[in-house]
Amino acid sequence: MTLLRSGSATDTGLVRSVNQDLAVESPNLFAVADGMGGHAGGEVASRLAVDALAVAFGRQPTGAGLSDAVTEANATVWQRSQEDPDLRGMGTTLTAMAVVNEDGQDVLALVNVGDSRSYRFHDGEMTQITSDHSLAEEMVKTGELTSAEAAVHPHRHILTRALGVSPEVIVDLWRIQPVRGDRFLLCSDGLTNELDTGQISEVLSSVTDPRQVAQLLVRAARTHGGSDNITVVVVDVVVGEDDDDSSPTVAAVAPDFRSASSDTLASSTDRATAGPTSDSEASAPSRRERRRARRRARRAARGRRLITFRTLLFVILFGAVLAGAYYAVRWYDTNSFYVGVNNNELVIYQGRVGGFLWYHPVEVDRTGVTTADVPANYLGELRAGVEESTVKSARTYVANLVSAKLCLMNPATCGGSTTTPATTPATTTATTAPTTTKVT
Ligand code: MN
Repeated sequence: MTLLRSGSATDTGLVRSVNQDLAVESPNLFAVADGMGGHAGGEVASRLAVDALAVAFGRQPTGAGLSDAVTEANATVWQRSQEDPDLRGMGTTLTAMAVVNEDGQDVLALVNVGDSRSYRFHDGEMTQITSDHSLAEEMVKTGELTSAEAAVHPHRHILTRALGVSPEVIVDLWRIQPVRGDRFLLCSDGLTNELDTGQISEVLSSVTDPRQVAQLLVRAARTHGGSDNITVVVVDVVVGEDDDDSSPTVAAVAPDFRSASSDTLASSTDRATAGPTSDSEASAPSRRERRRARRRARRAARGRRLITFRTLLFVILFGAVLAGAYYAVRWYDTNSFYVGVNNNELVIYQGRVGGFLWYHPVEVDRTGVTTADVPANYLGELRAGVEESTVKSARTYVANLVSAKLCLMNPATCGGSTTTPATTPATTTATTAPTTTKVT
């Protein structure tokens, strides 16, 4: 025997002009839907979804039945959006919980699509049951973002899964053992964008009446900015199994977390929520609060939308162009060398003189040849850097300079050179000849 007590609250917030959220609170079915889509779309989508959910679940009140009911709700919203051009692109999130009897046992079935959330408050500790179907959350899963970064990430509003935006939907389903004293929180992102888990947890633990808790949470989210519609459903397990086990079982049934990319492609719409950003509803906000609200409004106006195939294609192509440019620059840089002077020593560098874009020259060969070993008239261009296409040609260049210097000092070592007139009798022998071996 499981008995639940619940309370709910919803609010338009301080920025939006309409409330597209919807709370459902019936004896055995609880839900939060957060609609999206221009004009009336968002409101229609959330309303259609929860109505279809309730009817379908009533026919088959089991865990699988609840999941099927979400699939049916999806079909209902999708079909309607196809029939009415004004409603095209509408969609909604949906998180729902119900008590179902399976094999003579009461079980809490919980489903989710989108970025509304369900939390379990057990023994003073709050755990998030659902997983957001947003781009930011996907990035957390792949390790590109931490949860803290995701909470403020600009992509946290871009959904990878929503209800009613395509003919098919993947539903996450959990079965949870009801434990007396447990409290469940179902909420739209209007709550979690404004309050962190610590703040929510504090309210959940401090007030007994579920309706009062819901109202307090909504009010707190308003006070913290209220940039979006805020909806909260609180469900308490007042009669259920005793908490003999400190770790209650939460069984996830086939939530397909890895299917997000295919969802992304399946989403055929890209309609930002028409979120008028007037903050006229704010009663008497301080200037700082108003500034904050405006900032949030701008953020909200960018809105939540579904990523489309075209967007994805654009991102991929853009990425390819960037990668191409990167490798071209890299090729240009790493396929060039020059001879320069460092502390009176000739050094061969890889790269372009003075660096190229973000590439700085890298020392590849300290030749051991000093500025005294080469003709003085070459020093100017050496200090500026003499470009060569390969390390080998750079070494040859250095070797030639050393030979030229030897020639100047002792034309006899030039070995029948015709370019340097033999003005000095060949009386002295070369002593510095081995220098050249250093550079090869
Ligand atoms: Mn929302």
